Amino acid sequence: MESFSDAWGVICEYCKTRITDVAYKMWISRIEPIDLDFENSTIKLMVPTEFHKETLERCYTSLINDACREIFGTAFELSLTTPDKKETSPNIENAADPSSIYDYTFANFIVGPSNKFAHAAAQAVAANPAGAYNPLLIYGSSGLGKTHLLYAIGNEIKRNNPNVDIVYAKGDEFTNELIKAIGNVTTAEFKQKYRQADVLLVDDVQFIAGRNQTQEEFFHTFNALYEDHKQIVLISDRPPKDMKILDDRLRSRFESGLIADLQAPDIETRIAIIKKKADILQVPLSDDLADFIAQRIKSNVRQLEGVVKKLKARYLLNNERITQAIVSEAISDILNNDATPEQTLEKIIDEVARTYGVSAEDISSHKTKKANISLPRYVAIYITRELTGMKMVEIGKGFGNMHHSTIVYATQQIEKKIQTDSNLKETIEDIMRNIRDN
Ligand code: ADP
Ligand code: MG
Repeated sequence: MESFSDAWGVICEYCKTRITDVAYKMWISRIEPIDLDFENSTIKLMVPTEFHKETLERCYTSLINDACREIFGTAFELSLTTPDKKETSPNIENAADPSSIYDYTFANFIVGPSNKFAHAAAQAVAANPAGAYNPLLIYGSSGLGKTHLLYAIGNEIKRNNPNVDIVYAKGDEFTNELIKAIGNVTTAEFKQKYRQADVLLVDDVQFIAGRNQTQEEFFHTFNALYEDHKQIVLISDRPPKDMKILDDRLRSRFESGLIADLQAPDIETRIAIIKKKADILQVPLSDDLADFIAQRIKSNVRQLEGVVKKLKARYLLNNERITQAIVSEAISDILNNDATPEQTLEKIIDEVARTYGVSAEDISSHKTKKANISLPRYVAIYITRELTGMKMVEIGKGFGNMHHSTIVYATQQIEKKIQTDSNLKETIEDIMRNIRDN
């Protein structure tokens, strides 16, 4: 490993795939790697505040330890400092940005029968913004390259013309920003930001469905840009006709341009993707092993990539030759998601605890009387009912012998709350997605 920053990047990647986006952004992404001391097995990290430090100590030590064990084969002691107490000055330039490990460009996108239509449409739009298809909507299930194509469009347009004002938004961020803007009475700035864009790229647009005010604002943004001949690209996990709670006016806008879908890649494409990723990450992988992986991971490119990243970590650490046994292990780690309800329950509690910055114990034990615990606990109960087939009584046991009527009550409370609280709804969706995807 060349530097601790590289290693920290790999640790971040590991954490990212195991916790929610919210938790990652809030707690992990703001950690600055300072130093790794192999002799004393300590890792020195800097975090913005005392509160951040306490939260990490309470909820994240085991996650970071797991990451170290997986990546370095041994656990490290964490030494956390806050800016005023730091002994060494952090090297900001070296701070790892896990998302910059490689770029989402057309050059890095492997084309096959499953994605060639969407790819061609994306390229046409990038070559001729607002002149080819407007809007372009690309949909497909998780891990098939939607976000990659969206960024590739942005990167390509920027490369051809650095002055173009490209605005990226995720459906949920658009909602959050709007809510914040309304709260702070800065809606004019919000409107300005989106309506002056030359190109608007919206990822996960399905998240705005069902939120009336957001849809309303998005509708006006869409119209303003469209009438101004500005390119709009929308990404969704499903076609507009399946977005049940989408406002009809928006649905017809979404359907008015070109719609392209992404399907799961066939075996040849999978092999090519694995080789490309191995090439980018500089992992020496034989053709046979690339084939071996492609035979076993079939429907999700993110998982294919996950295997290659795991191999990279092993390779960086030990300089080991990559054998079929190592590959098998990496694959089974990635595919090992047929968890029992009890394992799922444990995962749910951990995820919720991390997201809210409380301890898993506070959530699972009925005894704690801490004031801020009932929301996370109710959320955990709600998600358990959504995701596991467990009976009320069993769920009650899982939460420190709660009476089953309390479980019913908790679920109803959350059901009611998410009708009006879109932030909560998103947080819950995010947590559930994360549990399902891992
Ligand atoms: P989605 O947004 O559809 O969930 P992403 O765009 O995030 O999926 O893709 C998941 C990962 O798989 C990304 O790292 C991306 O680079 C990679 N990927 C997906 N499709 C391809 C492809 N055709 N060629 C190369 N990499 C791909
Ligand atoms: Mg995506």
